[in-house]
Formats: sequence, C-alpha cells, structure tokens
Amino acid sequence: MHNNFMKRCNYCGRTEEEVKILIYYYKGKENYVCVRCLPIMIHGE
Ligand SMILES: [Zn+2]
Repeated sequence: MHNNFMKRCNYCGRTEEEVKILIYYYKGKENYVCVRCLPIMIHGE
C-alpha cells in the first residue's frame, strides 16, 4: 500500500507525513502549502 497522492508543500517540498499541509486554490488550480510556509506565502506574494 503506497500512497502516490501524498500532498506535498509547493514551497519546501515536505510531505503531509512531515508537516501539516493546507490546500488552497489559485487560478482554478489546487495547490498545497505547509503551515510553516504559509506565513512566507502571505508576506511574500
Ligand atoms: Zn512548506
């Protein structure tokens, strides 16, 4: 049993097994960001 659909942070590349991953949508696409990169995303973009 291997999960090929594991969520991975767009910014740091960590997976949902390592960090909490949040899903967000941008221009109709589903994206993932972990809780550690979320502040970076908020302030950086
Ligand atoms: Zn991250």
